[in-house]
Amino acid sequence: MNIILFGPPGAGKGTQAKMLCEKYNLLHLSTGEILRDEIRKNSELGKSVKEIIESGKLVSDEIIIKILNLAMENNKKDSLSGYLFDGFPRNIDQANLLSDLLDSLKLKIDCILLIEVDEPILLERILSRKKFEGRSDDNKETLISRIQVYSEETEPLIDHYSSNHAIKRIDGVGEISEVNQRINTALEGF
Ligand code: ADP
Repeated sequence: MNIILFGPPGAGKGTQAKMLCEKYNLLHLSTGEILRDEIRKNSELGKSVKEIIESGKLVSDEIIIKILNLAMENNKKDSLSGYLFDGFPRNIDQANLLSDLLDSLKLKIDCILLIEVDEPILLERILSRKKFEGRSDDNKETLISRIQVYSEETEPLIDHYSSNHAIKRIDGVGEISEVNQRINTALEGF
């Protein structure tokens, strides 16, 4: 089973992705997490994307597809049941790149999950999570830019996919376990 997880920053994608990957034995491919790892390691790649991430803009598609290919290559395991794309694709060009990539692997997207949370709650969540996670892109100014990029570039992908894919809208407000339960219910039958 291959899943794309959509949702605005602060929707809880990362948390839910981890739970889903464990339950369904999927490889968690979070482009944001991979980039943050590179920044922590202070690699050349990390240094080249730090400023862009801190401004809330998107890293180039070229870098994204490169890190994604590498992560898939390095984590190949026969025991995997599929992939969970978290934070990718984020614009139409990335959606086309993903489609080519999946075609070349003879794979397809089985389900698209969209975690929905209203903007005031997103702001509240992210500004309080900053205290314990310390992400340098979790400040009000960057967050406003991230939300704007999401609504301009990423949200239109929902329409793009809706003609050919099952899109499950998940209410992302509530306890982590409640949201997880909603996702599991949505995935029943897959
Ligand atoms: P969130 O969804 O909370 O914004 P992510 O961890 O998915 O968090 O992304 C953090 C940042 O990493 C983004 O604001 C962007 O700068 C960069 N990034 C992550 N994924 C992509 C992507 N697919 N394309 C371009 N930039 C990305």
